[in-house]
Amino acid sequence: MTTFNFSDTIRSWYEIHKRDLPWRDTRDPYPIWLSEIILQQTRVNQGLPYFERFIEAFPTVQNLAAASQEEVLKLWQGLGYYSRARNLHTAAQQIADRRGIFPDNFKGLLDLKGVGSYTAAAIASFAYDEPVAVVDGNVYRVLSRYYGIDDPINETMGIKKFQKLANEVLDPKHAAQHNQAIMEFGALQCVPSSPDCKVCPLINTCKAYQTGQVDQLPVKIKKTKVLNLHHHYLVAITPSGRTILVQRPQTGIWAGLYEFPFIESNGAMLPQEITGHDVFKDVFGRLRFRESIYNQQPILHKLSHRKIHAYFWIIEVDEELDDAVTVNEMLKKPVHVLMERFIKAYWKLKK
Ligand code: SF4
Repeated sequence: MTTFNFSDTIRSWYEIHKRDLPWRDTRDPYPIWLSEIILQQTRVNQGLPYFERFIEAFPTVQNLAAASQEEVLKLWQGLGYYSRARNLHTAAQQIADRRGIFPDNFKGLLDLKGVGSYTAAAIASFAYDEPVAVVDGNVYRVLSRYYGIDDPINETMGIKKFQKLANEVLDPKHAAQHNQAIMEFGALQCVPSSPDCKVCPLINTCKAYQTGQVDQLPVKIKKTKVLNLHHHYLVAITPSGRTILVQRPQTGIWAGLYEFPFIESNGAMLPQEITGHDVFKDVFGRLRFRESIYNQQPILHKLSHRKIHAYFWIIEVDEELDDAVTVNEMLKKPVHVLMERFIKAYWKLKK
């Protein structure tokens, strides 16, 4: 089978099976870029409402550039990987500085903050038909199975090999359609577990299918050890119902988002360990308080390299605290997903 047959086949499949998504069938780089950033590490179903909200709030890249970082983070809330939102905002300002005109080629697009080779290839091909192959998780899976390649997809050699192959199988006359097709094919047909190979148009020439290796490909080396962290959040409640929020540093996880002050530990903590801790004393000083734990069982949240065990401690104080905010003020602040879950449950707030 020639490479062009591969491209022909998946493009024909695509025209029949493609999902109707708002960032398709446009050559405007703004919605294409926005959708690509939102969809990194995010499923289409989850990302779609965010895309719609962003386009409604910021119809042009200049609108997005003119927004405050807090507005952007608030709209992003719940999507995770917040560095994407900050980079999106910075890149919008880069483009606004160019009178709202996007770079019109792969190399130029790489200069935008948060745009790596995958996103640059997607924008360059979808908006300008530049023949550069996209390689995302879906593409790795399709190529490794179809061509029977077991090089790990997260090691330098493997990455290079797949990038080269992806460019070789790309039909340069149909770059946009080919890239859309191979990604959609991986998302809908050649899915991670138990793909329905019987209905696949590539079944007769698929190496993995012929050799019974579908479930073993692609190969990914497990590398990272997950770190367990225990966060004890201190939820101040003043006589007027105000609470204390602090902003996280501008680097690291959840950078720039707001949260209750917290104590980090290796495990569960007793009430006297909480109230005797320096962080507690810094926040509450010598005020009189009543403490109670909201959740005995930690709420778990997995990040790529760490697992957070979250406990929320309710600290009712007898006096008002400097810098305390009202519930309404708190709701306007961008917060991370653990905070969002707790706030909704504790203050019984609807979405
Ligand atoms: S035959 Fe199965 S494994 Fe091969 S490309 Fe099709 S869906 Fe993927």
